[in-house]
Amino acid sequence: MDFDLSEELTAVRDLAHGFAEKEIAPTAAKDDGEHTFRRDLVLKMGELGFHGCVIPEEYGGTNLGFFALALISEEIARVHSAIRVYINMQVGPALTLLDFGTEEQKRRWIPPLIRGEALGCFAITEPNAGSDVASMATTATKSDRGYILNGTKTWISNAPVADTAIVFAYTDKSKRHHGISAFYLDLNRSGVSRRTLGKLGTHASPTGELIFENFHIPEASRIGQEGEGFKICMRHLNHTRLGCAAGAVGLARAAREAAVSYANQREQFGQKIGQFQMNQDLIAQMVVHEEAARLLVYRAACLADRKQPNNLEVSIAKYAAAEAAAFAADVALRILGAYGYSTEFPVERYLRDAKSYQIVEGSSNIQKLIIAQDALGYRKANRQ
Ligand SMILES: Cc1cc2nc3c(=O)[nH]c(=O)nc-3n(C[C@H](O)[C@H](O)[C@H](O)COP(=O)(O)OP(=O)(O)OC[C@H]3O[C@@H](n4cnc5c(N)ncnc54)[C@H](O)[C@@H]3O)c2cc1C
Repeated sequence: MDFDLSEELTAVRDLAHGFAEKEIAPTAAKDDGEHTFRRDLVLKMGELGFHGCVIPEEYGGTNLGFFALALISEEIARVHSAIRVYINMQVGPALTLLDFGTEEQKRRWIPPLIRGEALGCFAITEPNAGSDVASMATTATKSDRGYILNGTKTWISNAPVADTAIVFAYTDKSKRHHGISAFYLDLNRSGVSRRTLGKLGTHASPTGELIFENFHIPEASRIGQEGEGFKICMRHLNHTRLGCAAGAVGLARAAREAAVSYANQREQFGQKIGQFQMNQDLIAQMVVHEEAARLLVYRAACLADRKQPNNLEVSIAKYAAAEAAAFAADVALRILGAYGYSTEFPVERYLRDAKSYQIVEGSSNIQKLIIAQDALGYRKANRQ
């Protein structure tokens, strides 16, 4: 595998870097503090092609690939991790439509998503169904004109603001995993109410509940066949997990940069605190975890670009990157001492935001399950 960036990928990375510094950095603390959802940034990133880099040109994308998406996600998350979530909310649904939608569905729904005009989200989690996706209770019952959706989805990124959603629901509960179906919904219709949830961090990315009460779904809004929902959900997660892993690398990098910069300035006991070996130990570990995670993300992205199975590699990358981000944020806070604890420095935000990476898109435990079960030969991760 060649991890040297081509001219094209270097240009994409530099574009994302410049965009993040110019458009996101100046208000990152304010957006976090005021819990501001930046719809303008979704649109701007759409204009720059960030949401469409894994989408073929015929549906409005640039087709630059998953490596490009990883580079973009890292650069955006480095400056403000919550804004990186916006990309996954557009890219995730667009990719699922690309993988499983009909030609008409792709032409109609992908372009507004990747332009950032239709705000997307994906709704899997429920109050009693987190890691165990198949324990969901939401049902889509067949009616004359399609389906009637009932149930509550919770912890959904973008739920308070989204125009559309990919929603997973049982069309036949008796079939367990094979009874789940996937739908693409217009949320600006009656039958759905929303509730915003409070949380520790990632404040500029709103999270909430979608409560469906006799919500009518047209037949034409089903993605794939009835009963294909679980398979679609797992493929969807494999895509969004990769973007998430790249975001975690960006956050780890931000924390490491903050720690190194501070250690080179702050003096105690007559010398820079970077001179103390205990701090050097922490910085060395940050560097190693971050670089290892980045290379694992690159490997998973390269496999995706070659259209090779990469579920195992994505899980390894997601686990390593989430832990690297949480470690780096914790260590940066220790190195900055009281200033790390201060709301006037970004490091406390890094710590709050980093914790989400250990939970979302399959928790660290779930990634470890996938990795260990593959290693033990119980269940191969790269089955398709
Ligand atoms: C900020 C944020 C944004 C989110 N965005 C979305 C979104 O856009 N769409 C969406 O559908 N969901 C979203 N989620 C939900 C997220 O996907 C779930 O929180 C996640 O899948 C874990 O589910 P849970 O929180 O219910 O934990 P649980 O599944 O209840 O797990 C609790 C604990 O037990 C562990 N655990 C569970 N099962 C096992 C097992 N078999 N072996 C070992 N350990 C296990 C977990 O690792 C965790 O530590 C979001 C969550 C957050 C915090």
